[in-house]
Amino acid sequence: MSDLGVIRKLDEVVINRIAAGEVIQRPSNALKEMMENSLDAKATSVQVVVKDGGIKSLQILDNGTGIRLKDMDIVCERFTTSKLKKFEDLATVGTYGFRGEALASISHVAHVTITTKTADAKCAYRATYVDGKIQGQPKPCAANQGTKILVEDLFYNCKTRREALKPNEEFSRICDLVGKYSIQNSLTAFNLKKLGDSTAEINTPVKSSAKNNIQLIYGSEIAKELFDLGFEDKDLNLQVTGHATNGRYKGPRLEMIIFINGRLVECPSIKKQVELVYSEHLPAKSYPFVYLSVEMPQRFVDVNVHPTKESVEFFNERAIIERIGLELKEKLSANHKSKSHGVAV
Ligand code: ADP
Ligand code: MG
Repeated sequence: MSDLGVIRKLDEVVINRIAAGEVIQRPSNALKEMMENSLDAKATSVQVVVKDGGIKSLQILDNGTGIRLKDMDIVCERFTTSKLKKFEDLATVGTYGFRGEALASISHVAHVTITTKTADAKCAYRATYVDGKIQGQPKPCAANQGTKILVEDLFYNCKTRREALKPNEEFSRICDLVGKYSIQNSLTAFNLKKLGDSTAEINTPVKSSAKNNIQLIYGSEIAKELFDLGFEDKDLNLQVTGHATNGRYKGPRLEMIIFINGRLVECPSIKKQVELVYSEHLPAKSYPFVYLSVEMPQRFVDVNVHPTKESVEFFNERAIIERIGLELKEKLSANHKSKSHGVAV
């Protein structure tokens, strides 16, 4: 007899694997979570090494606070976090992470090895994790302060997803992500390499600036045409910093990087406004480069609307977007005028 229609409770491992698949859809999602953990741990250096676009292996080394030995056995369990204690904290959360879900998710779809040392530990410890569980005891080893996380054979247990991934495409997503994070977090040094390569794909110095890193990553064609886009609006509780290209730069596609309260987001409404403003200054099929870092009080932003946190919702969206558009328009026109005067004189 068919058992179609019979309702059963899924087994724990299946539940976790399905949940993990929502957070970790590809290597770059895993890397984003791990880079954010490194930044939450106050790292000033983040080094990434990948093999086969991160599908075969993805390693991230930071010099942050490290993980205490006594936390090592639960660090990959679901909903274990050092960042959030009660639901109300979500309104003011100042760290990237708060759900305690990333490492757990990664360990449900890959093999995870963590090597870590805190400042006051005598040595580092290493442990491996499968399906959220530590395998054996952490083993003492030698390492500097910080954390190294190695993620191997991503989706070894989800064959169709693994086969759908193309290493080159995944590697370019990783480059894109590391580049954008290095621009936003320019005080931290970022390094990205393919395993076995002697030269780095991305290498930004410690205590750099957003502008300097834009030049390193997107090239001087863009960097030499940038103007500053910083302003504050007290009524809207808004603070914006950023850089955008002037009317002389005519890129083949729109390059738009938006961070809201430090989070990289897709924000179609801001994008549309920016395109509208530039359409008055650039010929058809020419596009600008725009980097915007928007800060507003934490309580105005809901960061918990998407499993990969790539979109956020915020109060006063229309007013804020119009304000940004207006500022961009003014600066763009002013820049245009001063540059053309420069030529005329
Ligand atoms: P969340 O970031 O939401 O807390 P994660 O699963 O990403 O959850 O990480 C779980 C915990 O592991 C973090 O709260 C943090 O205490 C610790 N952790 C993870 N990565 C690092 C790191 N690179 N350095 C220091 N601690 C880390
Ligand atoms: Mg995290």
